[in-house]
Amino acid sequence: MKASIITIGDEILIGQVLDTNTQWMANKLHDLGVELVETLSISDTKEAIVSGVARGMQTSDLILITGGLGPTKDDVTKYTLTEIFKDELVLNTTVLAHVKGMFEKRGRRFSDLNKAQAMLPKKATILHNPVGTAAGMWFEQDEKIIVSLPGVPFEMKTLVETEVLPKLTRVGGFQAQYYQTYVLYGVGESFAAEMLETFENELPNFVTLAYLPSPGRLRLRLTGKHADEKYLKEQLTYLGSKLEAVFKEYSFVKGDIDVIDLVKKHFQKNKLTLAVAESCTGGKLAQEITKKSGASSFFVGGVVAYNASLKENLLQVSPKTIAAHTVVSAQVAKEMAIGIQQLTGANYAIATTGNAGPTKDKTSEDVGVVFIAIATENQIKVEKFNFGQPREKVLEQTKNKAFEMLSKEILKNH
Ligand code: ATP
Ligand code: MG
Repeated sequence: MKASIITIGDEILIGQVLDTNTQWMANKLHDLGVELVETLSISDTKEAIVSGVARGMQTSDLILITGGLGPTKDDVTKYTLTEIFKDELVLNTTVLAHVKGMFEKRGRRFSDLNKAQAMLPKKATILHNPVGTAAGMWFEQDEKIIVSLPGVPFEMKTLVETEVLPKLTRVGGFQAQYYQTYVLYGVGESFAAEMLETFENELPNFVTLAYLPSPGRLRLRLTGKHADEKYLKEQLTYLGSKLEAVFKEYSFVKGDIDVIDLVKKHFQKNKLTLAVAESCTGGKLAQEITKKSGASSFFVGGVVAYNASLKENLLQVSPKTIAAHTVVSAQVAKEMAIGIQQLTGANYAIATTGNAGPTKDKTSEDVGVVFIAIATENQIKVEKFNFGQPREKVLEQTKNKAFEMLSKEILKNH
């Protein structure tokens, strides 16, 4: 089954609203095994809708449309679709009662405009919208399916989940599709591609491998489509074990988990704790760790020791070390990590110190140079990086590298 998505709204075309509906629906169609061949964003006019639908009818078996279903005059989607499919609008008493009920609940006056929302095309299947006043519509014409949904993302999602997907599943006609993601740390995309040459050459034609790189990690996604669901699952499991074998010397995990989830999982499993001592990152590490719930199970806390005096007084960094090497040095990063470990009793610690720029203080290192230290239970690892400029990039990359180094240590030790 081939599909296209049409989003309607001048707000999208003038850049006032970001079209997140397309992305969300594209993802849902992909999961279902429907092939999305085209997406289109068009103006709120009859001409644009007529030509957009005509185009979709040529390229696709299914057209998903969002937007333009409001009660006001400028929302013409319903009227235009009714015309295209030579249908007529009739009062739908179920929708009328629902819309009235929503207005009563909110204590708002019910107007003729709102009543017009219950006027719906006779031949279409009406998709009940429990969270809004604009109902969805499911048209079938010339063996094509055309679905019109409200533009408000929350309403659109509700209707897709409760009405559209179950109906599409019943229609069927698509191959089973599964994908499995793996995450590889510390191996670049091209190096991974070299290691996977044989693997890729031996891939069956119904499975594809995608490389999805992001800072510090590489996601590898296997996608398979096959009419025989059981066979497909077996094949993906087998290919997954082959992948694991290729990367057995590296940090390689199954599942689409981000680095913080990985860290959390390992800390929780091994009943370990973590603390951070941050200079240049100014709390960025602590913030990232605590973004998601569950951080309290392993994260003790941290210190932002920006000034040398705090590094000395709170983290016991020796003034002699600072005098000899300056604050941006491997030695200071190391002492900061030990200091926070001792202060908090945490098993693991991360410390950062660097010249984020654009200017540099009295240190011998260049702008962009950062030292990251990871203290584990029995050793300390310090690495030097030069992230260049601008400042935001230095801080972001320091954060990514710090968690990458930490995850490497954990995976190595446990
Ligand atoms: P309403 O009854 O609210 O008028 P509607 O079906 O007419 O619903 P629109 O008027 O097109 O929908 O959009 C309503 C709101 O939903 C917009 O102001 C916008 O914030 C959001 N929206 C619309 N389309 C999209 C989209 N493609 N992606 C993200 N948000 C969208
Ligand atoms: Mg509207």
